[in-house]
Amino acid sequence: MVKKRDHTKLLCDIGELSGLFSDTPSLEAFLRKVVEMVSKHMRSEVCSIYLYYEETGELVLKATKGLKSQAVGKVRLKLGEGLTGQAIQELQPICVRHASQSPGYRYFPEIGEEVYESFLAVPIARGQNRIGAIVIQNSQRNYFTDEDIKVLRAITSQIANTIEMAKWLMELKEPPSSGDGQRTQKALVPQPAAGLKFIKGKVGSQGFALSESLVLDERQGLPVLTQALAGIPYTLEDLDQAVRTTQKQLEDLQQEIEEKLSDVASLIFTAQILMLKDDFFLGTIRDYARQGRGLPEAVTKAVEGYAAKLEGLSNAYLQERQQDVRDMGQRLIKNLIGVKETTEDYRGKIVVATDLYPSDILKLYSQGVCGLVLLSGGITSHLSILARSLQLPLVIAEERRLLEIAPGTRILLDARQGNIYVNPSGEVIRLHQKKEEGNVLAAEWKGRAAEKTFTKDGCRIFLHSNINLLGDLEVARAVGAEGIGLYRSEFPFIVRSNFPSEEEQFVIYKKLVEGMPGKEITFRTLDIGGDKVLSYYDYGKEANPFLGMRSMRFSLKHQEVFTAQLRAILRAGRGADVRILFPMISSVDDFLQAKRLVRHCGTALKKEKVPHHSSPRLGVMVELPAAVEIIRELAAEADFFSIGTNDFIQYMLAVDRTNEKVAEFYLPHHPSILRALKKVVQAAQERHIEVSVCGDMAHEERYIPYLLGIGIRKFSLDSIYIPRIQKTIEATALRQAERRTGRLLRQSKISNIEKRLLKESLDKA
Ligand code: PEP
Ligand code: MG
Repeated sequence: MVKKRDHTKLLCDIGELSGLFSDTPSLEAFLRKVVEMVSKHMRSEVCSIYLYYEETGELVLKATKGLKSQAVGKVRLKLGEGLTGQAIQELQPICVRHASQSPGYRYFPEIGEEVYESFLAVPIARGQNRIGAIVIQNSQRNYFTDEDIKVLRAITSQIANTIEMAKWLMELKEPPSSGDGQRTQKALVPQPAAGLKFIKGKVGSQGFALSESLVLDERQGLPVLTQALAGIPYTLEDLDQAVRTTQKQLEDLQQEIEEKLSDVASLIFTAQILMLKDDFFLGTIRDYARQGRGLPEAVTKAVEGYAAKLEGLSNAYLQERQQDVRDMGQRLIKNLIGVKETTEDYRGKIVVATDLYPSDILKLYSQGVCGLVLLSGGITSHLSILARSLQLPLVIAEERRLLEIAPGTRILLDARQGNIYVNPSGEVIRLHQKKEEGNVLAAEWKGRAAEKTFTKDGCRIFLHSNINLLGDLEVARAVGAEGIGLYRSEFPFIVRSNFPSEEEQFVIYKKLVEGMPGKEITFRTLDIGGDKVLSYYDYGKEANPFLGMRSMRFSLKHQEVFTAQLRAILRAGRGADVRILFPMISSVDDFLQAKRLVRHCGTALKKEKVPHHSSPRLGVMVELPAAVEIIRELAAEADFFSIGTNDFIQYMLAVDRTNEKVAEFYLPHHPSILRALKKVVQAAQERHIEVSVCGDMAHEERYIPYLLGIGIRKFSLDSIYIPRIQKTIEATALRQAERRTGRLLRQSKISNIEKRLLKESLDKA
């Protein structure tokens, strides 16, 4: 059989994967559809899914295409038994090209299995968490290639979370349900937070919103709604209709996110869709209804029972699905009672939450949330960075009473000043609306910046964009960014259930390069850890994640992940003006090792005859105090420097950038920071290499004259700030900035620096 297929297309086609849910009546049918899809794409005669049960240490065949259907549920393997058991034990794919000769191979003639010579098993896992395995087989020898392993791994990684949820739901059916709905009793009706009117917070992402609030807190269950509806006679047909409507809404949301956020789209609504496919879940609702409960109450009881079970699990990922289950319950009840305008629960709301994961923000964004209030986090945290990319106003305010405001309370979110008004008076609203109109007018100059930027006295300055999501490219182009000074490559890693493969990354990076044709593109390699944890990587217990297994440390330790990324960058960068920037370099050794790995990847690609960029410029991201002491030696090795002031300040001053409680100590103008920045620029100048600033200092107007004064000629910042920063630069005379810089550098007291900065801004005004 000839196998020719377009792997690249298959890999990232989340749309196709989410299609697995439509017209699928049950969980079992969902798994059957998976095996059919995989076997079609891989052109394999057999495809099977095994699920792994930790308590018994067994793998059980749960769906198959090609083997006899009677085998489902019957074929059981111990961990380590046969090639499949081995793959899941070792968490490594196993590919055998001549199975009958392989000692580990087992086949089951009792269920009509023949000898299939080619065999490929890929574990389904989230990090070290074993979920099961997908196995494909073919009678022809040497049928599966290395490319097939990569493709099957990529598919498996994209559906692993969904299969994990399906597995949990199937497990629930086996023992009798203990969903006694205790949480329904426990659930509290939130009390209005008396007297809470105004809270001062910090701006995480600029903007303005005036709307009803919705507190995302586990105490907010469904009972408020259901109590009001008790006694209304809904029929089981009404329930079926509501299930269908809910499913359709969730599928549409899934599709929307795929269209809007292709780089970070993952199957984020599938946990909810799966529950609606689960006859056991629906059966539980029907049983409660038959016992005489009204349907809204029956839904609540079933949902709360499931949520309570999830809460009791040790698996953190599944635990988090509680919110999904409750969201689905809300949606289902609202569809049941026909509340049209709230079919999408979050649309137009301001969400208040203690903390969120990046994938939660994506989910809320795709459901039309118009603003966010978080009780924790910092303005330079990655949640803020993501919110800015999504243009979602965000204020961070450490005020626990916000969690107690009654559902539907109106909030005015002035995320330009960081102000939150609870139940704002008509006067406050009028004032802000007027200001907003002013902002809309002001927004006109927000449009395109002039093509080139010069200081008042004619020095050429370069303004590049920071890109977090591919969606940011549009604004970058609109404001006329001269290139991408920082692509934060970690967001596609954060939303997945496993490391994205080289091929998946290649597709994303190619879009990035094509999105800014002819411009310089700076790829920052994977920078995870700290406040960007991967749900699938076992960090162990890290008391200080910001000082833990993160960033470059992680990449150098996990070279298979790192080289997959480097290869993808080199391939995508072919023919383009591409640079690679390594985050958190702490020593010359780190940087040399990273450089060596780039060289190795280039050599390997050349050998494989894969088109790629053979000599991208390689840069050091200056973010650690350790780099400052050896900055000259680093300058001798690097093609360029980019200063990540967010982390630089955090580590220099030992102030957690995500901790609002210590925000007052996070001072970009601390004398040590100012002097260290100068030292970095000087070292770059001595070696004639470029140095830019890509942290948030680059978009703070008050620091621009200082940065120009020490010799920074290139800034990389979120695109929306580019027009404003351009104006600031145009209003700054370099000679004067240099004089003032000299005076600032001579200060040793923070207070004196503050006075001088204040004076400068008054002079400007
Ligand atoms: C920085 O640290 O300044 C930076 C630009 O990187 P990130 O904000 O992604 O850590
Ligand atoms: Mg950083």
